[in-house]
Amino acid sequence: MKEDAALLPVEDARARTLALVSPLPPEWVRLEEALGRALAEDVRAQRTLPPWDNSAMDGFAVRSAELSAPLPVRLQVKETIYAGQTPRQEVQPGTCARIMTGAPLPAGADAVVMRERTRLAPGGDEDEVEILETVGPGHFVRPRGEDAREGEVLLPRGTPLGIPELGLLVGQGMLTAPVPRRPRVAILSTGDELCRADAPTEGRIVDANAPALSLAVLRAGGVPSVLGIARDTLEDVYRHLAAAGGYDLVLTSAGMSVGEHDFVREALEKLGVERDFWRVAIKPGKPLAVGRKGATVYIGLPGNPTSSLVTFELFVRPALRRMLGHPDVEPPRVSGRLDGELKKPEGLAHYVRVTATWQDGELWARPLATQTSGALRSAASATHLLHFPRSSSRLATGDKVELLPLSWGA
Ligand code: AMP
Ligand code: MG
Repeated sequence: MKEDAALLPVEDARARTLALVSPLPPEWVRLEEALGRALAEDVRAQRTLPPWDNSAMDGFAVRSAELSAPLPVRLQVKETIYAGQTPRQEVQPGTCARIMTGAPLPAGADAVVMRERTRLAPGGDEDEVEILETVGPGHFVRPRGEDAREGEVLLPRGTPLGIPELGLLVGQGMLTAPVPRRPRVAILSTGDELCRADAPTEGRIVDANAPALSLAVLRAGGVPSVLGIARDTLEDVYRHLAAAGGYDLVLTSAGMSVGEHDFVREALEKLGVERDFWRVAIKPGKPLAVGRKGATVYIGLPGNPTSSLVTFELFVRPALRRMLGHPDVEPPRVSGRLDGELKKPEGLAHYVRVTATWQDGELWARPLATQTSGALRSAASATHLLHFPRSSSRLATGDKVELLPLSWGA
């Protein structure tokens, strides 16, 4: 059976979800807290780095014009400059300075010859060296200001702060950085069949979604709060949602389909959440709903544990990254080849859990044996989601496929 044409394609659903969110207001936080967020303002360099031309090698600081053939060229060593020291003399014609990595280049010198391209002058002592190669000006010199020049924009607003960026800021003497505050995310499980892990109940299953989604939120840079488990009644779902104020994002799980006990959509409506869309052309995860009330975005995730994680990855994580200021929040993709056969009817895009391994210069994706969305086992040990496009119905071994690296793994 062909699926309902009214189902929203994944890309449209993501675009519409992202259109509801923007970077959160900025705060100045310690650098280690800023890791993984993006800059909320341009950051200008407060100092020039490196502050002086310095040597990139242990070797000899020379006047490069003197090193023309015939080699070797014999030079007098006038001083030794270690990192942290200041040169005392200018390098005059016929002389050089022994220099260590990171030490300031002395006046007169314009290049460094690495120690391995020199030897002590035969018969001479430590004060004479033979240079065995010619080098041009600037050779093995790290020029002043290569990393930063005082006053220039060092990192523009929107730059995602990874480890090198934070290192650059530390080098500027900064202890804090301006970044969007972390999104506050509420998580509500719904279902009469659920109990808490710390209160196991005969005849019920443990709520797996709230803890899994909390970890996913944490890993994505948000601050999760678990609201508990709502029973499958309109009143109880509404009561839990109405009590949850001040969140940037509210995630619900389950109760999103068209069953008689599926009250989440109705509860969201009663709460005044303006629905943007419901139902996406995707498997797993079709019964997804997204809406907004005031500054809070509501995302109703499907109940099946794997479906809720897949839709988290495709829709929620990008939204959290946008709130954290990232300019590019599309899920990353790599290309690989299918190791196996896949078949499906047209109509829904499938996101198949695969384990991808590098072999013979390519990433080979093997679908996990279990793909039912009810079984978390179909997510365990998956490294990627394989995108089996909506309009395609068959993929064979060796076919080129699009793979989305998962953020779930260890
Ligand atoms: P529903 O969307 O309410 O029809 O739920 C779909 C399936 O997911 C059912 O088998 C539920 O028992 C299961 N499910 C729903 N919520 C959770 C949860 N928090 N933890 C584990 N399984 C769940
Ligand atoms: Mg249910």
